[in-house]
This record gives sequence, C-alpha cells and structure tokens, in this order.
Amino acid sequence: MRKWNNWEKETKSAEYQFTYEMKNKHKQIKKMEISQHTKYFCEFCGKYAVKRKPVGIWGCKDCGKVKAGCAYTSA
Ligand SMILES: [Zn+2]
Repeated sequence: MRKWNNWEKETKSAEYQFTYEMKNKHKQIKKMEISQHTKYFCEFCGKYAVKRKPVGIWGCKDCGKVKAGCAYTSA
C-alpha cells in the first residue's frame, strides 16, 4: 500500500510539473508572438517602423529599407 501511495504522489507531482511547464511555454510563445509584432528602430530614417518579416528579414515600412539577419533581435 505504501508503495502505491508513493507512486500516486509522484505521478501527481509530475503531472503538476508538466502542466506548470506547459503554462510557462505557452507564456513564452505568447511573448514571442508579441515581440514579432513590435516595431524596431530604423537606422536609416530614424523611425520606429522596422518590422520583422519571415525568414529573418527586417523591413522598414517608412523608408522601405530591408535588412537581413538578426540585428534587431537584441533590442
Ligand atoms: Zn526606415
């Protein structure tokens, strides 16, 4: 009986840990989604109009300059 009880306790804590991690991951995904929609500073025209496009390309909506790479990810 004792062993069974322990097993039940462990699985419950594992389940709790799992749901906790899933919630955290969900939060992180939401954060990522938000950061993808935020605008970044454009060094060419000086406005916050740079948006991330798919495949790591950054384009400024104001002056139309396009930049490749992850130069803006640290912002
Ligand atoms: Zn610009």
